[in-house]
Amino acid sequence: MPRYDNLINGQWTAAASYQANTNPSDLADVVGEYAQGTAEDVQTAVAAATAAFPAWSLSGIQARHDALLKIGNELLARKAELGDLLAREEGKTLAEAIGEVGRAGQIFQFFAGECLRLAGESIPSLRPGVGVEISREPLGVVGLITPWNFPMAIPAWKIAPALAFGNCVVLKPAELVPGSAWALADIIQRSGIPAGVFNLVMGTGRVIGEALVHHPGIAAISFTGSVGVGRGIAKACAANGKKVQLEMGGKNPQLVLDDADLPQAVELAAQSCFYSTGQRCTASSRLIVTDQIYPAFVQALQARMANLRVGDARAANTDIGPVVSQAQLEQDLHSVDIAQAEGAVLAAGGTRVGCHTGSGKLGFFMQPALLVDSTAEMRINREEVFGPVASVVRVRDYEEALHMANDTEFGLSAGIATTSLKYATHFKRHSQAGMVMVNLPTAGVDYHVPFGGRKGSSYGPREQGRYAQEFYTTVKTAYTLGAYAWCFGPLKQAANA
Ligand code: NAD
Repeated sequence: MPRYDNLINGQWTAAASYQANTNPSDLADVVGEYAQGTAEDVQTAVAAATAAFPAWSLSGIQARHDALLKIGNELLARKAELGDLLAREEGKTLAEAIGEVGRAGQIFQFFAGECLRLAGESIPSLRPGVGVEISREPLGVVGLITPWNFPMAIPAWKIAPALAFGNCVVLKPAELVPGSAWALADIIQRSGIPAGVFNLVMGTGRVIGEALVHHPGIAAISFTGSVGVGRGIAKACAANGKKVQLEMGGKNPQLVLDDADLPQAVELAAQSCFYSTGQRCTASSRLIVTDQIYPAFVQALQARMANLRVGDARAANTDIGPVVSQAQLEQDLHSVDIAQAEGAVLAAGGTRVGCHTGSGKLGFFMQPALLVDSTAEMRINREEVFGPVASVVRVRDYEEALHMANDTEFGLSAGIATTSLKYATHFKRHSQAGMVMVNLPTAGVDYHVPFGGRKGSSYGPREQGRYAQEFYTTVKTAYTLGAYAWCFGPLKQAANA
């Protein structure tokens, strides 16, 4: 069985123990054994990153651009191979996994360009003859903690801006998906970036994650994951004066109004709720449907769901791969039981299914679930499930739909299906989500624009696009006497100033 080490100070470093990485489509298939780091490994990685920081933070932007571009190009060139690895360890379909690796490549290419576009401002002071420069500088060593559901893209959209703006990095990927992170680290390691600038420490959240969050040498933590863990990290960072950025859960609403294009609304609901096995933070899980269209919408969605093929993530005709783990599968099935106990009606799926896989050993497969006649108060409409489970709520009109959409502790993504410009425009302004979609699935975003939510979904500056610099840089304001002297009189006089 191949063993994969941590990357610390430019060296592949053996660990005291290793953990098997299992394919959720085929439990007999072990991808490899991955290092389980210790708190001492975090100490060594932070020390290496701290030593590398002065040179890296002052390195030329051309060198940073070239390294990031090289990483992006290799990811794109190898997206089929790495997509296969990603689908094998995480369980999204091959098409989705290849798309994710391609996205990671594009993100590195985008931030290669951002290295060359980091601008400051130069403006006159209130005091004549004084100049003011506003510039951005890197933070230092940043700790990046990532979840399992986008094993390549989320590390990419944190690592690329961190490096582009001159920071050094310690990445701690999720326990369930170390393979994609290791492959990415291998590419970064060969990109020409100096030893210590990028470090990978795999292991548990309790050990590696907490060691990073509490380490005095870490200037900032960027975390994506669950609300509970995120809030604990925010508290610890506040106590230690660290900058923190959190991307967390969602309970994303998808409104369907009476005037919606029915086939379009059904398709975007199926895409939002069930593709990637519903394991996207931007997945829609609450379908809020107005009175007139409700019966036709439910019927058409049931028919669409009957055609969803659940199976091995890497099989050619699979639409929906397995749930990522036994624990997540149990949570998904349990949420369906709770919803039914509270009075919702199971209209499709919601059960574990056996699928033919390579070894014949059952993977974590679940038939996507549709719960109808649910109400806003039910737990199924208030708590994140993070699986292929959607509930439908019937409402009178747009006003009630909007109220219900916003009646949640989360605010990541929200969608509306309507042919009315009036409702679309009103929803874009009044939705309390960070991202709003009109006649599009709630999941599926561009990489060159800000990503993030409001309320319990996010904390701190946005990720991705130009906005990423808000988190990965700190602003400096410098005043210089005489900087603008030549503007205020003849050159000779200015020279004497
Ligand atoms: P999780 O919170 O269990 O784990 C996320 C990461 O935190 C993992 O690397 C884990 O090892 C680490 N961790 C766990 N305990 C820790 C601790 N005490 N200290 C430091 N680190 C710790 O989340 P998950 O199950 O991997 O991912 C699913 C969650 O992620 C869902 O809630 C989903 O909505 C959310 N998510 C959000 C976004 C977004 O951008 N908003 C994107 C993807 C996933």
